Amino acid sequence: MSERQLAMVMDLNKCIGCQTCTVACKTQWTNREGREYMYWNNVETRPGKGYPAGWEELGGGFDGSGALREGEVPSVSAQYGTPWDFDLEAAALGGEVAAQGTPRAGPNWDEDAGGGEHPNAWFFYLPRICNHCSNPACLAACPRGAIFKRPQDGVVLVDRARCEGQRYCVAACPYKKVYFNAKSFRSEKCILCFPRVEQGLPPACAQQCVGRIRWVGYLDDEAGQVHQLVRRWQVALPLHPEYGTQPNVFYVPPLPGPPRFDAQGKPIPGSARIPLSELEALFGPGVRKALATLEAELARRKAGKPSELLDTLVAFRHAEMFRLGAGSGLVPLGRRGVKSLDPGR
Ligand code: SF4
Ligand code: SF4
Repeated sequence: MSERQLAMVMDLNKCIGCQTCTVACKTQWTNREGREYMYWNNVETRPGKGYPAGWEELGGGFDGSGALREGEVPSVSAQYGTPWDFDLEAAALGGEVAAQGTPRAGPNWDEDAGGGEHPNAWFFYLPRICNHCSNPACLAACPRGAIFKRPQDGVVLVDRARCEGQRYCVAACPYKKVYFNAKSFRSEKCILCFPRVEQGLPPACAQQCVGRIRWVGYLDDEAGQVHQLVRRWQVALPLHPEYGTQPNVFYVPPLPGPPRFDAQGKPIPGSARIPLSELEALFGPGVRKALATLEAELARRKAGKPSELLDTLVAFRHAEMFRLGAGSGLVPLGRRGVKSLDPGR
């Protein structure tokens, strides 16, 4: 356990799958030196396989007794995949811009398939980073003691001097958010942009998010919006809590959407486009209460009444989404001389 825990909340009702966060992370941390295949931040589509493909079937995490569950190291051929090229020569000669080979997966790939049948199709986006868990399976599995949690903020890091590239952590992480760098022969993972955090700046994925879906702050900072969403309103939930790692990335689940249509094209009262069972499988039993709270607040707003929760989720002021300074008081980004980095001000 760390003294304090930094956490992120993501509102899935606002993610548009643009991958700006993915690019912000990749250009900053993983575009070179054996990291090319890594996506410390990725955005996948539900239903879908995600990245690495089928990661939820690769084991890891803890069982009910607290023991590590066996896990697999994903393979390049089956799970990570390799980039494809486009046949631009054929396109230049008047043909279609077609992919070379037979691509089977890719970012945003699954949104073309979606779930359900027309006219009741549905999908939503699921951005993922390392959860900087309070009970990290990666840390528990490392025989070298090379993974540690920073006491001041709970960020989970790999000590490159101790790591010997044995990949127990890769197998143990049930979210598959540790990656092996074959060039440096070390494990590498999301560092929650700690050099930015130390300057009072949010991680790049959160700063650049065009949908303003990401809040960053300390869980014990009662005045912060992260605390409000996770602890007070309880509308933000961990992904797969049953894995036992106590994640510190929390998701506001997507509202189930408009009613389904019957065979005659008429809306079915009380029905929902996204099956509740799908959301419960991802975010656990807290989903029902979270959705009920969100729907009650939406009804309040529709009735012309104020809603503090919805005002928070709308995120009128970008800077208020991030509380990272000493004592977790609001860090006015403009006063730190970085106003130009904050597109919301
Ligand atoms: Fe470790 Fe995986 Fe948890 Fe990140 S998500 S702290 S890599 S167990
Ligand atoms: Fe979603 Fe924001 Fe990432 Fe775009 S930048 S995909 S809106 S999380």
